[in-house]
Amino acid sequence: MIVSVNPATGAELARFTPLTGDEVESAVDAAVSAQRQWRKRPLAERAAMLRDLAAVLRDRKDRYARLIVGEMGKPLVEAEAEIEKCAVTCEHYARHAAGYLADRSVTAGASVGYDPLGVVLAVMPWNYPFWQFFRFAAPAFAAGNGALLKHANNVPQCALAVEEVVRDAGFPANLFRTLLVGVEQIAPLIADDRIAAVTLTGSTEVGAIVAAQAGAALKKQVLELGGSDPFLVLADADVEAAARAAVPARFLNGGQSCVNAKRFIVEDAVADEFVAAFLRHTAELKVGDPADPATAIGPMARANLRDTLHDQVRRSVAAGAEVLLGGEPVDGPGFFYPPTILDHVRPGMAAFDEETFGPLAAITRVPGTATAVDLANRTDFGLGASVWTSDVDLAREIEAGAVFVNAVVASDPRLPFGGIKKSGYGRELGAEGIREFCNTKTLWIG
Ligand code: NAP
Repeated sequence: MIVSVNPATGAELARFTPLTGDEVESAVDAAVSAQRQWRKRPLAERAAMLRDLAAVLRDRKDRYARLIVGEMGKPLVEAEAEIEKCAVTCEHYARHAAGYLADRSVTAGASVGYDPLGVVLAVMPWNYPFWQFFRFAAPAFAAGNGALLKHANNVPQCALAVEEVVRDAGFPANLFRTLLVGVEQIAPLIADDRIAAVTLTGSTEVGAIVAAQAGAALKKQVLELGGSDPFLVLADADVEAAARAAVPARFLNGGQSCVNAKRFIVEDAVADEFVAAFLRHTAELKVGDPADPATAIGPMARANLRDTLHDQVRRSVAAGAEVLLGGEPVDGPGFFYPPTILDHVRPGMAAFDEETFGPLAAITRVPGTATAVDLANRTDFGLGASVWTSDVDLAREIEAGAVFVNAVVASDPRLPFGGIKKSGYGRELGAEGIREFCNTKTLWIG
């Protein structure tokens, strides 16, 4: 059974029977047939449909935002922003896909074009239950691909709503289907020759499993995996601006975003000032009912995720970290964990070495810039980084898919998004993202 639980109360909301093997089989067949027609439609028609999709998303913003809030506990204001970002991204590809996919003439008679690959299997996480899908799907649909979605099993209602909105926007029947299935039903799909490619957004552990399966099938894959983004505050930083920005950088989405800043690496010269201001601003965050527009931090999405985070806090404290704020689960119903700040975190502690997926900020004090850069890079991950300094060249020394100087890391439909090291490979968004699920075709006319 696939069960939807309200993380603010622990109450069951709905349950669903997973699809049978035969039902999955017919969904794959139907998606392949639909995609063969879809790829022949002029790009302008596909783009018009993406505009319609944006309009339907906006019309239903309140309903879909409340679904997200109920199923994974994101604060309402953030859930509304998530739906809006999906709409903006559909419009972006409606407007720019023709440019991103235009044939490129190389020499007389020779050019490069971008054909769709086919039906892509998308395995997605719960943390942005609409955005994670649309970030992949808006460019994929624009390029002429079809899709099948295996969503995280704690957001089945969002998974069905995503299918509903694509259908209601007028996309061809079966071009995209949500498959409510268990993880054991994924390997056969990855091996299936009718599936052209795989995209996974999720943990590094699951990324390794899916990568091995896709590798065995010699299948194109994009992997958007975990992160432990550093947030560097150097001696020449505007410390108050950095401390204010550090709050959304760490605590947006209850700290459950791959590009939340997780490790705050601060030069000694400004550490006391930064820590005091960060603590003050963080203590103002209102924890509570995610449906209340005044709430900044809702519950964590599942009980086991809260247990994992608390275990990381305990192990870090046992190894010498100091609790400045929070540090104990909130009593009562739901899976609440308060904003937590640990000071004097060092390499070798869980809060430094592991991805912490919840409202936990780890502060590491360093004597100078060279140590700051060294520690920023001393991680298995390489997704994003935020650096607060006037030395913009430092960005090139950080091992990450994106470095934001004097700004908070965020995805943007115009810019490629993805990681290096164990944060995965491939890119979503921008021109690079739409071309991931294309056959880059050489055309030679003799
Ligand atoms: P997860 O446990 O890795 O799950 C991700 C998806 O993979 C879910 O749909 C899950 O299904 C499925 N899955 C689990 N085991 C599988 C298997 N053996 N074979 C195939 N599929 C399997 O991750 P999560 O807890 O949902 O999400 C949090 C993680 O995602 C964090 O590590 C975060 O950093 C990462 N993330 C990365 C990005 C990025 O862009 N780089 C963005 C967001 C999140 P079930 O739910 O049924 O287990």
